Amino acid sequence: MSQAHEYAQQHHDRFVEQLQELVRIPSVSTLSQNKPDMAQAANWLAEDMKNIGFDRAEVMPTNGHPVVYGEWKGAGEEAPTVLVYGHYDVQPAEMADGWSHEPFDPHIEDGFLYGRGAMDNKGQLIAQLKAIESLIKTGGSPVNLKVIFEGEEETSSINLPVFVQEHIDMLSADVCVISDTGMREVDQPQMCYSLRGLTYMELHVTGPSHDLHSGSGHTIHNPAQALAEIIAKLHDEDGRITVPGFYDDVAELDAKERALMNEDAPTEEYVIKTTGSPTTWGEPNFTPAERMGARPTLEVNGMVSGFYGEGSKTVIPAKAMAKLSARLVANQKAQRAFEQIRDYIAEITPPSVRSELKLLSKGEPAYTAPDTPSMQAAVRAYEQGWGKAPTFNRGGGSIPIVADFQQMLNVPVVLLGFGVGDGVHGPNERFLLEAFKRGVDTAIYFYEEVGKGL
Ligand SMILES: [Zn+2]
Repeated sequence: MSQAHEYAQQHHDRFVEQLQELVRIPSVSTLSQNKPDMAQAANWLAEDMKNIGFDRAEVMPTNGHPVVYGEWKGAGEEAPTVLVYGHYDVQPAEMADGWSHEPFDPHIEDGFLYGRGAMDNKGQLIAQLKAIESLIKTGGSPVNLKVIFEGEEETSSINLPVFVQEHIDMLSADVCVISDTGMREVDQPQMCYSLRGLTYMELHVTGPSHDLHSGSGHTIHNPAQALAEIIAKLHDEDGRITVPGFYDDVAELDAKERALMNEDAPTEEYVIKTTGSPTTWGEPNFTPAERMGARPTLEVNGMVSGFYGEGSKTVIPAKAMAKLSARLVANQKAQRAFEQIRDYIAEITPPSVRSELKLLSKGEPAYTAPDTPSMQAAVRAYEQGWGKAPTFNRGGGSIPIVADFQQMLNVPVVLLGFGVGDGVHGPNERFLLEAFKRGVDTAIYFYEEVGKGL
């Protein structure tokens, strides 16, 4: 065990105190009233980087909340460089949401640290920063380090892609590591190696120029009904998306990966129990884990048309609208997926109505194969720092910045998650301090493993 690990053990209590200090700053990115708090949190981090001994530590402006950037290049030109990403902004939180203690006055109970941001992402970000401190303070890190903490993750990272594009050289690295994922139980670490992309759309269907008396029904096509007919044609009976070419780019799963991702995955029973749905649904040849992580979706997020107030109103609405979104998997492209859906909807729209599909936002899927050297370095880090090798899963959700880093910086992204707890984005967010401790140690081992060469 190197000195860095001993240092981390000795300073654990102070690390927890510092985490509490950061949680006390209500850095809610979405509320303008918290703008000074955002600046305070950014300054707090830059100040801590300076105390740790970074060569460079500064708060850099964007068109929104600032980015905190730090560098330590003491490992020398031959050594690999690791880029560390985290976010210091948090979701809003107030007592009225159901918190049992003030969300920005953290407290420790039953081994958990409670408070907004305790886990997402301040706890995991501080675990990374304190791992770096432990290395720098005990003779130096075996890898060069670049640290970027953003303040807009909870508001879709709107300005970060531009920032990355403008600082490609500054951010260039051999591997990027992000600690912002979690695991169900502290005794079984999980590594998410794939995230889905997202295409978000609005489908507008129009018919008559104004709402009509339903006495004129069956003389023109009702747009609400036409919308339902279009939506009904987007999947077949087995839950397969019928959009031509939609699966063309979807990477096939081989037997090895299927075994890997189903080893520690939610079962059909688990899905039924946790959702309250009468049964599961979806492509029959794929397990729930495969449908969630390795297959694309096309979902209706909302539908609106006509009259939905109290009582009855006999009306044929002039228009109908649905919010649609597609989660995309490795090798799919968000723009192409949108165009395929748009063209198919144009084709199946009955001539008796008009339709228009609008693109609202898009993000690309991300994937780092579990057998790549940087992922294997992470596996060895968990074995040593956490005490157990991780299982692998594909996430159903999206962190668009992961794909942006992969594409713009051409680096593999390792999701080295330490999250054990709950309440993320909800009341009583909490982070298990044992996971925080193991996280610091695992991160140190990760840098040491990467330092041996990728
Ligand atoms: Zn979050």
